Amino acid sequence: MDIRSVKVGNVHIGSGTSILIAGPCSVENIEMLREITAAVVEAGVAMLRGGSFKPRTSPYSFQGLGIEGFEMLDQVRREFNIPVVSEVLAIDQIEHAVKYVDMIQVGARNMHNFPLLSALGRTEKPILLKRGFMATIEEWLMAAEYLVKEGNDRVVLCERGIRTFEPWTRNTLDISAVPLARMLGGYPVIVDPSHASGRRDLLEPLSLAGLAAGADGIMLEVHPDPDKALSDGGQSLSIPELMELAKKLLKRIAHEYSENRGN
Ligand code: PEP
Ligand code: MN
Repeated sequence: MDIRSVKVGNVHIGSGTSILIAGPCSVENIEMLREITAAVVEAGVAMLRGGSFKPRTSPYSFQGLGIEGFEMLDQVRREFNIPVVSEVLAIDQIEHAVKYVDMIQVGARNMHNFPLLSALGRTEKPILLKRGFMATIEEWLMAAEYLVKEGNDRVVLCERGIRTFEPWTRNTLDISAVPLARMLGGYPVIVDPSHASGRRDLLEPLSLAGLAAGADGIMLEVHPDPDKALSDGGQSLSIPELMELAKKLLKRIAHEYSENRGN
């Protein structure tokens, strides 16, 4: 099946050349967001990520800056001319996301939230649909159908690891899901090694594995001072680490692309 490519701002996802997405787990303030965005752009990363409505396991953990964070994302996307993706948790947040971001993320915990999916299906925004950590590939593809059924086929899937019995990683990256979801659904698939592993030291091998499996993109978390991050510091790259990894991945992507074209 051909992959239906999705245009987000000036970026094409699923068009044959894999892309990189990077940014903080959470938008914490405008200074850190600017610093990260400048680095992301310099590294050749195509899109910025940043959560502002955060689905945290504990209600006492940092919950994100909400609409204020969306406004910051809007500010940097204009300043740096880079599209941004950010999550919504509830239907009443959609109208704000439509205004301030280029792509809306549905997080793993909301993959089964059918009213939210249907409401997003009635927008024209590209959607990044993360796989639920207990969802089969079929359930994930059916969640995508909720968007398509309402008229929005600008769907990109994101494999972010599933829950297994293995305690040394936060989740287990399901590599076979990458080619399967692409073949069976026809959607571009992004791999998120940060949430899949929870470990900074696994981001390089898992990113390379994702690309080898045919991923249309890799999404990475980055923070100017990962040990002080308000969420997911342990799986976030520092800025110099991002620069180095992005360079390696973009080299690999360029190589793949020229091979495929027979150059
Ligand atoms: C995220 O991308 O910040 C996030 C919360 O991811 P997930 O929904 O995959 O846990
Ligand atoms: Mn995170």
